[in-house]
Amino acid sequence: LAGPFISSQRSSLFAGARLLGTLVVAEAQHGGKLNPSSLSTITAAQQLGQPITALVMGNEIQDAADSLARTGITKVMLAQHEAFGRPLAEPMSALLHAVQQRLHFDYMLCSGSSFGKNLLPRAAALLGCQPLSDVTQILDASTFIRPAYAGNAILTMKFKMPGLRMMTVRSTSFPPASSDAEPALQEHVAEEDLSAAVAVAHSGASRWVSEVSTKTERPDLTSADVVVCGGRALKDAQGFKMLESLADALGGAVGASRAAVDAGIVSNDLQVGQTGKIVAPKLYLGIGVSGAIQHMAGVKDSKVIAVINTDSEAPMFQEADYGFVGDMFTAVPEMEHHVRQL
Ligand code: FAD
Repeated sequence: LAGPFISSQRSSLFAGARLLGTLVVAEAQHGGKLNPSSLSTITAAQQLGQPITALVMGNEIQDAADSLARTGITKVMLAQHEAFGRPLAEPMSALLHAVQQRLHFDYMLCSGSSFGKNLLPRAAALLGCQPLSDVTQILDASTFIRPAYAGNAILTMKFKMPGLRMMTVRSTSFPPASSDAEPALQEHVAEEDLSAAVAVAHSGASRWVSEVSTKTERPDLTSADVVVCGGRALKDAQGFKMLESLADALGGAVGASRAAVDAGIVSNDLQVGQTGKIVAPKLYLGIGVSGAIQHMAGVKDSKVIAVINTDSEAPMFQEADYGFVGDMFTAVPEMEHHVRQL
């Protein structure tokens, strides 16, 4: 066969074979591109030292599969079907169950994004497995570190039982794998496994209703180099426009505290923190955000933290590398003016 691709007939040669190694469940974004968090999951998998297979599910996945194939892994498995056109956990977990029953991986890893948080626990329940979530460090083959209580406690967790080890990994704790290696093999998942998952999709137990997403030209919040984050003090959407303008001058993303989201000032996909997104930019700018522990749980890994707040006692000053005590409504336009002069 030309190229790295192996047909589904050829892949049946692997049927039933014991394949020790790690399965990375990758995430293809709507539109077919690989979610960058999957590259961080590959890095985590590399640290386990086993051959890596990546599985990508979706409707249009060739682009994502090609990116995965260049990360130095052993193989990419494609599950291309309209049943996976939307990230519904029910059919996808049925596929993971079927694939694991056939191939017996030692580890199954997925990013701790909303995709992974939705999918992996369900697959773990089907496989009778206790998964580990939000892994930030791998100490050895069975020992892993994860934060708890909004990062105020760090737990060292050890798998004591033999068998499959499933976990979600925090993508900001693992750098993205480079994707310049020789392309790995690609093959389709076995027909029977696909059929089992498609049957679940057609059972009607769950269905995709709709999606409301914010269209933005700004970088993705979780992988941006600069994050400008605003709090409740911005008062309204107009106040946030001031932050958006600064973020655009810096080429950054906009985030928000939960209080700003709960007040209806911005949509909840911007929320940063324990119950929002985890960010680790080169520069995090907290503007009119107090710095509650639940907020800082999503910010702590930023390389540089800078804060603008009228209250010098605001908790964020304790975590900040740079702080300015003053009114953001004057400081932010001034800062933007200077940035645009650079
Ligand atoms: P505030 O605490 O009201 O702070 C506003 C800040 O703006 C103050 O420090 C004030 O001094 C400053 N300010 C006011 N005017 C100006 C001005 N003109 N210029 C400059 N500064 C000004 N929060 C999150 O953010 N993310 C989470 O994921 C999250 N998860 C949570 C989970 C749980 C289980 C719980 C209980 C809480 C969670 N919270 C979370 C909420 C968190 O505890 C705080 O309530 C929230 O972060 C506060 O948001 P804030 O800083 O915008 O608001």
